[in-house]
Order: sequence, then C-alpha cells, then structure tokens
Amino acid sequence: MTALLEVEGLKKHFPIHKGVFSKVSGQVYAVDGVSFSIGRGETLGLVGESGCGKSTVGRTLLKLLEPTDGTIKVGGEDITGLGAQAMLPYRRRMQMIYQDPYASLNPRMTAGEIVGEPLIVHNIGTPAERRERVAGLFERAGLRPEAANSYPHEFSGGQRQRIGIARALALNPELIVGDEPVSALDVSIQAQIINLLMELQDEFQLSYLFVAHDLAVVEHISHRVAVMYLGRIVEMTDKRSLFEMPLHPYTEALLSAVPIPKSSARGRKRVILTGDVPSPINPPPGCHFHARCPYAMPRCKTDVPALREVIPGHFASCHLHDGGVKVPLGAAA
Ligand code: SF4
Ligand code: MG
Repeated sequence: MTALLEVEGLKKHFPIHKGVFSKVSGQVYAVDGVSFSIGRGETLGLVGESGCGKSTVGRTLLKLLEPTDGTIKVGGEDITGLGAQAMLPYRRRMQMIYQDPYASLNPRMTAGEIVGEPLIVHNIGTPAERRERVAGLFERAGLRPEAANSYPHEFSGGQRQRIGIARALALNPELIVGDEPVSALDVSIQAQIINLLMELQDEFQLSYLFVAHDLAVVEHISHRVAVMYLGRIVEMTDKRSLFEMPLHPYTEALLSAVPIPKSSARGRKRVILTGDVPSPINPPPGCHFHARCPYAMPRCKTDVPALREVIPGHFASCHLHDGGVKVPLGAAA
C-alpha cells in the first residue's frame, strides 16, 4: 500500500548574511536531508530539542515554506514543484494545528466564523450548509454549540485548541500536522486533547505528524517516532522499540530524562548531555552530535553517519553500529 505521505531528502536552508543580526554569513541548515513516510491512519511523532528543525519539517512539507531540496509526495503524487493554484486541492487534504491556539485564532472573529472560514475560502456549501457543518464540527471537537458566538479570548487554552482542531477538520483532511499542539497546555488538558486527536484519528482514518520536544508527550499518541537533532533524523522506529531499545546515543539521553514508572526504568541511569547544542548555522562536520556524545570516536568528527536500517524497521545514524548492532548502548547502564 502506498503511504499517504512520502518525504525524501527534504532540505530547508535559510541563507544568512553577516551584519547586525549575525557575526557570520552562511546557511542555516534548518532541515538537512530528512526522509520518512506516514501511512493512512498512522501517527509519526517527531521529537527533538527546540531549534532542531522539527517545526520547519512540518511547515515545509505542507509547502508553507518552499523546500530547498527533496521531494514530497501525497498519495503517490509529487507535490514538490506545484504552484499555489495547483496546491489548492492538496491544501484541503493537509491541515495544521498550532502550538499556541491563541496566536493562531483571529481575535476579531467568533469561534463559529473561525471554524467555518476554510469552507468559505474553498467555496464549499451554502451558508445554511456551512452553519450545519460548523455545528457538527463543534460537537465533534467537544465544544458547546453556543460557544460559536464567543471570541477566542473568552475560552480556556484547551477550548481554544479544540477550536483549532475543529477548524483543521472542516475540510475533511487526510493528514494533520500538529506543531507542538499540546505543549502550551496543562498536563491534565494535554491528555484530553491527545485523547480527542486519537478518537478523531480512528473515526476519520487521519494521519498525523505530531511534533513535540518531549518524548513523554508523543509516547501515547504515536505509532512510530522519529528523533531529530540539528536538522537530521537520527533515529526512527516503532514506539516500543524506541522506548525499550534506543540505538542512538541522543535518543538514549532524551529517554533518560523522561520519568518512567515500573520495571522499564530499572537499570536506566540518567545520561547528562555535556556541551551546548551546536548552531545550525554552518554546523560541525561529521556526526552533528559528536561534541556532546559520551561514545564519540575519532571518526565521528569527520564522517557523517548515514541513517541506516540497523535492525529491520529500526533506523539509526550512528557509527557505533557500523560493525554490528551494539545493544544496549551502555553509557546509561
Ligand atoms: Fe556518538 Fe559517534 Fe554515534 Fe555520533 S556517530 S552519536 S558521535 S558514537
Ligand atoms: Mg517549533
């Protein structure tokens, strides 16, 4: 079966010029050769520290930013080179939910107008049909019907995110990119929103790219997880393998910071990352992680480790596995 979304070698570089804002000129390698696919009804969690390029991946694959290189296919069709007009039908199929629902909702529009706006933009239905559709979306997103007449500032953060979700659903999309959709919410509200997203996925066979900086947040919702570091995916596999047997030292370090109950935490010690996150402006050669990696070897400073399928279905980019799989990694034991 063809994946709904296939991303191959995606790059997004931003040129910068020496001047007031920067001491150096060069390129910001925000996304530097990222490949993954998402099946129908599947959630891929995309995790990494802030600034690693994960939001840029989401925006570039929706073509809200023009990719520097690579290909993006939706349902097997290459959309990489399409202009604004040709992109319109794909815009309907791919929607976004933002981190800060307040900033992404127009304060001068009522919740009902916000949710119904995509229908107007895409010229769908009569006014009466749109009203009915908006009422249905409100109900599905867990909002009271009378909330349609209220303005964004009258809602709590969780309710605002429900409005954002109702708006994203208006056009019956197949793929939703969630750019840290629960990061700004209280933990109890996070769980409600994640559960809502999972129910909607079941009901509508939605595919999600779920971006987060925290592995604990993606654990519940994801089927597979990709870990990003400085513009590249360093590890990608099904959720269970990632949490039980990380193959990349960076994933191991991220996991050691996640509080884990029960037996799975046994034997796991905290890996403290040393050094700073290198700048994505002209990043270091070799493995981008070498300055912070407890396992770094001389070749890590010069040779870029490719993302390879180390174990069937389990991809990692690390020279540790060059001569066979090294499990467990060991620094944390
Ligand atoms: Fe560490 Fe080297 Fe693996 Fe990079 S390639 S993660 S520096 S061991
Ligand atoms: Mg971001």
